[in-house]
Amino acid sequence: MAITLPDLPYPDDALSPHISGKTLEFHYGKHHNAYVVNANKLVEGTELANEALETIIKKTAGETSKQAVFNNVAQVWNHSFYWKCMKPGGGGPPTGAIAQKIEADFGGFEKFSDAFKNAGATQFGSGWAWLVLKDDKLHVMKTPNADTPVARGLKPLLTVDVWEHAYYLDYQNRRPDYLNVFVEKLINWDCVNSQLG
Ligand code: MN
Repeated sequence: MAITLPDLPYPDDALSPHISGKTLEFHYGKHHNAYVVNANKLVEGTELANEALETIIKKTAGETSKQAVFNNVAQVWNHSFYWKCMKPGGGGPPTGAIAQKIEADFGGFEKFSDAFKNAGATQFGSGWAWLVLKDDKLHVMKTPNADTPVARGLKPLLTVDVWEHAYYLDYQNRRPDYLNVFVEKLINWDCVNSQLG
């Protein structure tokens, strides 16, 4: 298989009680896995079969005839990144280089936190909120459905999945509560710092 389901960086109940083992069992084991299976079926035997995920995303973005390939491959990339953006005992104010950059570019953690949570809360329907690096400056953005900053050549530093399957078992319709917990209890700032490089 050209495209693989990466191991979760922690056991599937490690983010409990903030995100339950049941949510990860379905979100990782069923949803993410289905994107991997479908992506492989769609690229098999095509010129994209042996390309890296990022290359497939860039080559199929905005191509109507390649929409299904883009959707599945981008969702594989987005989810593989999302798992790395969380850790047990994470969240709260950042440390390291990203702390200084957030201070410089947003005017402090609270302002970043508000902007990031607002992006997630106002994404109508399914999608993602992101912290990205563009021209060496931090930006918060949101994308619908499978869309990803990778398609635009931006460097993702952090993401949160706001599809209902990410939070409905634990938070039902309370997406803002899930976003608060993500920022306060789950963000893996070590991973964000390593992306910042
Ligand atoms: Mn998801």
